[in-house]
Amino acid sequence: MKKHNFSAGPCVLPQPVMQKASEAILNFNGLDLSLLEISHRSTDFTAVMERAQKLALEHLGLQDKGYKALFLQGGASMEFLRVAYNLLEQKAAYLNTGTWSVKAIKEAKLFGEILEVASSKDQNFNYVPKNYTIPSDADYFHCTSNNTIFGTQLKSFPETNVPIACDMSSDIFSRQLDFSKFSIIYAGAQKNMGPAGTTLIVVKEDVLGKVSRAIPSLMDYRVHIAKNSMFNTPAVFAVYVSMLTLEWLKEKGGISAIEKVNDKKSKLLYSEIDRNPLFTGFVANKEDRSTMNATFNLTDENFKEKFDTLWQDAGINGLNGHRSVGGYRASMYNALELESVQVLVDVMKELERKA
Ligand code: PMP
Repeated sequence: MKKHNFSAGPCVLPQPVMQKASEAILNFNGLDLSLLEISHRSTDFTAVMERAQKLALEHLGLQDKGYKALFLQGGASMEFLRVAYNLLEQKAAYLNTGTWSVKAIKEAKLFGEILEVASSKDQNFNYVPKNYTIPSDADYFHCTSNNTIFGTQLKSFPETNVPIACDMSSDIFSRQLDFSKFSIIYAGAQKNMGPAGTTLIVVKEDVLGKVSRAIPSLMDYRVHIAKNSMFNTPAVFAVYVSMLTLEWLKEKGGISAIEKVNDKKSKLLYSEIDRNPLFTGFVANKEDRSTMNATFNLTDENFKEKFDTLWQDAGINGLNGHRSVGGYRASMYNALELESVQVLVDVMKELERKA
């Protein structure tokens, strides 16, 4: 029996994807060679890269709209600086909604003036700031769509004439959005897409080439576009598993279908958090709650040992909150089944009965 895996990332991946990925390690495409021992320039692998890029753009509804999909390395953290390297000439506007925004801001400050248009730091990032203004002369606006650590999620994005760059690491492919509002979308693979090791970057080509600085090749999105993500050796296994996960998502009916399941899962858990007197949600405003990462606490810490034993005995993994926040965090990425959330809710009810 597999565990009910609520881990924040790396995290649960679809079981059929795991099966195909293990087969490809032993014998890829009937080549009598492993996926791990063939050239990344072989036609078998370049087909994987192209398929993964095509699927990513298709899912986001961005094919034939001037966007390119890249699979690069360095994690989402690398994009904190690569975005600024490529786009920041003088001034950029950043929304600060948590640890990952703070890190993005820190890197961008090396390249120009950063205006923090709003921040929820005053309340330990337990809400999403609204009603801020983005200066029309900013080179771009940057935000984090889902705050993995604190469990908040942006439900809408500002109307602005400046390009929007968005870190979607923890909610990409989980909900329908008008993705054409964004000029750059980036996401580490290790939540909704695949294993750690590659980052998806979807970039609208017309925002590039506007800064005056020299950009080292590995940092330059234009170089990676020209080389089709093969300027240097790509993370072949991570890209392959991402491709399989994107195929799996397509078979499931795409983002619109998975969004319905994600809504069901998060409603099920949040209603129990709200109903059960032993639990309280971390996020201040219910409308800011993330459908991917639900953060909550016990109302009485004396029940901690009992609760921890109950969920561990029920085969649940990865429920502890991030070390900087404490409490609990249930990450409900695309591949987590509704049934796993039901197991958690049952455990929460059992704690109430036994309290
Ligand atoms: N942004 C967000 C929203 C994240 O959740 C994470 C990682 N959990 C990162 C950035 C950093 O990603 P990486 O470790 O791939 O650099």
